[in-house]
Amino acid sequence: MTLEPIPQSDPRASYLAHKQEIDEAIARVLDRGSYILGEEVSAFEREFASYIGAAHGIGVASGTDALMLALRACDLGADAEVITVSHTAVASIAAIELAGAIPVLVDIDPQTYTLDVSQIEQVLTPRTRAIIPVHLYGHPAAMDAILEMAKRYHLRVIEDCAQSHGAQYQRRKVGSFGDLAAFSFYPTKNLGAIGDGGMILCNDPALADRLRALRQYGWQSARISTLPGANSRLDELQAAILRVKLRHLDQDNLQRHQLAQLYTKLLEQSCYATPTELTDARHTYHQYVVRVSDRAPLQAFLTQQAITTAVHYPVPIHLQPAYRNRLRTAVSMQHTERAAQQILSLPMYPQLTDSQIERVAHYLRFWCESNSSSPVT
Ligand SMILES: *Cc1c(COP(=O)(O)O)cnc(C)c1O
Repeated sequence: MTLEPIPQSDPRASYLAHKQEIDEAIARVLDRGSYILGEEVSAFEREFASYIGAAHGIGVASGTDALMLALRACDLGADAEVITVSHTAVASIAAIELAGAIPVLVDIDPQTYTLDVSQIEQVLTPRTRAIIPVHLYGHPAAMDAILEMAKRYHLRVIEDCAQSHGAQYQRRKVGSFGDLAAFSFYPTKNLGAIGDGGMILCNDPALADRLRALRQYGWQSARISTLPGANSRLDELQAAILRVKLRHLDQDNLQRHQLAQLYTKLLEQSCYATPTELTDARHTYHQYVVRVSDRAPLQAFLTQQAITTAVHYPVPIHLQPAYRNRLRTAVSMQHTERAAQQILSLPMYPQLTDSQIERVAHYLRFWCESNSSSPVT
């Protein structure tokens, strides 16, 4: 008997779901002959900014660049410290250093996996300039409390929205709360290109102008650099594809939400802790992350059943070789360190079917029962 494989993510399924529209968009760009910073990029910048609820969108080459350029646009000065979490993609921290600033890491709230606001004051110094909340897995960070801290201590807020296209906090979309927001369009994200891509959103027209210059050699008028800039452009092909995908984003997010609810129902009273969605939040389930006490043998067992899972993220950034013993953190990082041991990302993408979710849940429950595993604490 061969089991039908269930991948953890499936960007090809998203292409096939909208194949005709995407193929037409690609043909249109190829035919037009303008491939960099043309009408598709401008249109997508307008459409995406308006979808989120921001005044300006600046398309760039990746989510990492979006964070890095957003920080550079703030002109934070020498030795600026930027507070973020250690339980995130390496990109969040790499971008801070690429911008010439110093990452300072705090613990997470173990329920939502987002920044623990109560630790901000513990790591503040006279050089603290900004906070980067990460809306990890698609759950919004506690923006009210974060914005209040930022106001009290005159800090910039840059939202890392790489996993939260369309997520809401108090009925408003994330990416519209901070001074700036950074999005990634990496293929597996909720809004994914067929290659790399990113965008920065903001409301301040002066910041938007700076960013448009920074993404292209600091040019403000033709071939005259007014700032030392980068080359970080979103290309026309990706923008045209993303315009198609944006039209289906709400439906895709709804699908992820329904699949997540099915997982949660099927995994009730088992040995797993299922994700939390706070009442003032709308989760986009970029990842559906459970917790389990004995992860490695479970992952191997699922692999035998042709079910692929992943661990986002296996080692907190402050313990990774490139950063270990070098980054300042809050005194206790216990929730970050414990999460890294227990988390498991189950298969999650909009094209999964209910019966595939049922199969995954069936084997997960089977595992608890045959190992007499007790609920994770
Ligand atoms: C994907 C991701 C990024 C980086 O995006 P790239 O487009 O891969 O550079 C940044 N932060 C988080 C939380 C991410 O998940």
